[in-house]
Amino acid sequence: MTVKVPEIFGCMVFNDDVMRERLPKEVYKSLTKTIATGRAIDASIADVVANAMKDWAIEKGATHYTHWFQPLTGVTAEKHDSFISPIGNCKVVMEFSGKELIKGESDASSFPSGGLRATFEARGYTAWDPASYAFVKDGTLYIPTAFCSYTGEALDTKTPLLRSLDALSTQGLRILRLFGDTTCKRLVATVGAEQEYFIIDKEMFDKRKDLLYTGRTLFGAPAPKGQELEDHYFGPLKPRISAYMADLDEELWKLGINSKTKHNEAAPAQHELAPIYATTNMAVDQNLLIMEYMKKIAEKHGLVCLLHEKPYAGVNGSGKHNNWSVSTDSGKNLLDPGKTPAENVKFLLILAAIIKAVDDYQDLLRISVAHAGNDHRLGANEAPPAIVSIFVGEEIAEIIDSIVKKTTLKHTKAGIMDLGIPSVPTFRKDTTDRNRTSPLAFTGNKFEFRMLGSSQNIALPNVVLNTAVAESFKQFADVLEAADNFDEALAKLIRDTFKAHRRILFDGNGYSVEWEKEAEKRGLLNLKSSVDAYKCFNLEKNVKLFTDHGVMSEIEINSREDILFENYSKIINIEALTMIEMASRDILPAVNAYIAEIADTAAAKLAVIPDLSCKMEKELIKRLSALIDNAYESLETLKRVEREAAAISNNVERAEAYRDKVIPAMDELRVSVDEMEKLTSSEYWPMPNYGDMMFRV
Ligand code: ADP
Ligand code: MG
Repeated sequence: MTVKVPEIFGCMVFNDDVMRERLPKEVYKSLTKTIATGRAIDASIADVVANAMKDWAIEKGATHYTHWFQPLTGVTAEKHDSFISPIGNCKVVMEFSGKELIKGESDASSFPSGGLRATFEARGYTAWDPASYAFVKDGTLYIPTAFCSYTGEALDTKTPLLRSLDALSTQGLRILRLFGDTTCKRLVATVGAEQEYFIIDKEMFDKRKDLLYTGRTLFGAPAPKGQELEDHYFGPLKPRISAYMADLDEELWKLGINSKTKHNEAAPAQHELAPIYATTNMAVDQNLLIMEYMKKIAEKHGLVCLLHEKPYAGVNGSGKHNNWSVSTDSGKNLLDPGKTPAENVKFLLILAAIIKAVDDYQDLLRISVAHAGNDHRLGANEAPPAIVSIFVGEEIAEIIDSIVKKTTLKHTKAGIMDLGIPSVPTFRKDTTDRNRTSPLAFTGNKFEFRMLGSSQNIALPNVVLNTAVAESFKQFADVLEAADNFDEALAKLIRDTFKAHRRILFDGNGYSVEWEKEAEKRGLLNLKSSVDAYKCFNLEKNVKLFTDHGVMSEIEINSREDILFENYSKIINIEALTMIEMASRDILPAVNAYIAEIADTAAAKLAVIPDLSCKMEKELIKRLSALIDNAYESLETLKRVEREAAAISNNVERAEAYRDKVIPAMDELRVSVDEMEKLTSSEYWPMPNYGDMMFRV
């Protein structure tokens, strides 16, 4: 069966084409203006839009609608209402009003609110976000919405995102105006998120309680083969995986998601999907849909998709690369190095703004990717280190160097403008030297933020990027707008900024110990664990950043910080309890049964030939019995420290106890168990092993 891609692409989306076709001209114009400017919707057109949406959705098989939102649980939420409206005589008509489209009420009390719930009413409401298209899925019209408490506090990830996009646009336009752009009305941040994932056979998955409850394996001796041969990366796709990917692509295309690239990743059974970038708001929604469909389609194929950052110890984990850029409303990318010296100076200023933003808010960027799952990757020599730094490529690094030192460029054919800013007509785009160890890499016309975990919502990292860069733009605009001599002020600003923030640039090996030392000398932050990172969230400078730009209030920041600490503790707690259950009820009994069998075997042998040595049986019994005692001791320790940690009432101290006491106890238990796995007959081992899980898909 061939898929007619252009025909199905976006067929389930209420996109611009559908709007133009189905809405009266004036309504269409008003709505697109709303979308382009980020303004509130004109209430008078809402009924017309809602009705058109409903008619279209019904044609696509919908009977219900839902306000789709992103509470702070990290996943999406939805509540379905049908379109039916009784008209007496046991009859109904299908109705959908503008009011229902724009605003929904939702009981907020069961969603995490990080203390907001205590202070505010439990009721919350969802508000339509017209900038992300509505779509039909499984017989329901999905309306992307923001989710707030009744008093207006954001209870979701989308609200701060939309606010940060406004802030970026507002401050960025001030910069563009200084360079003579009088027409651009709005700046748009664009995002392309590359998504990594693992696939496992459903039957194997079902036999692993750890995967079921925690998404990762908590036990497991390494398989004889891992990723050392590098034969999986970009290798040919297995037929089952290929069929799965084809199905996935088709469903995503119907939802208007530009799923573009798919390939095998470094670890066995690991893969990647990359969409073509979209506006940030849409990219966030689409990434959530991609993750949802990855899981859903896998089930259809008898597979399970693992989005956890570290499903298996010893092989690479999964991350997400957040490619980010800013462009004008007419699509001109501000991170495209210019073709003329004047454009080139503007580019350098924008680059300086980003470098400053990353340096000033290293901690926030680190927080935005900090969660228990990602702690297994960052700094573990498979993903970027926990230290935030930027890679700009050799040529740009040289340009920055020459600006700071006021020297002439060596390798580039560049002239030096008066004022000491090099006038490079075009940059050679650095496509060859891709420093894979860098947390944030400039890749020609965009920044690739590589610290994100595979399971996370990408909203917060983008909130931080947008807001931090908005702040740089603001400070720059303040200086330049007040300058008597623009060119001079501009040159000084660029030089001063590069000079002050050059420490954040690093082109070397981010995995090396030397870098850790060097970074410390430079005064860069090295927030090793999520818990360390979270503590920086409500530092005064960070609160000031978010409140100055209207992105988050202090209450909203504190509530998020609370939730982060709490989630961390909850996750480790579930992992600890799962280990306790698996060890107590499955693993130790299995090993004992195996020991009994060996003992029986030895006894049987000795009954036949009394002077046999039974060396193998005796040694195995000795070693397994010693390991089982170790495991038992570790298990008892784990039970105790888990109880103690769970009893701590202070959020921060509890998280610290999970990190400092519970995780080491879990690690210790795992050592004994993995050792026992190597010695125990696979017939007795109560679950599939690493080799089965990774190589038998
Ligand atoms: P690679 O990283 O392998 O070189 P690409 O450069 O083609 O791959 O792009 C990787 C991701 O970056 C894709 O999702 C792509 O759509 C996205 N991307 C490309 N240009 C931009 C941009 N201007 N803004 C945001 N994302 C972008
Ligand atoms: Mg990439």
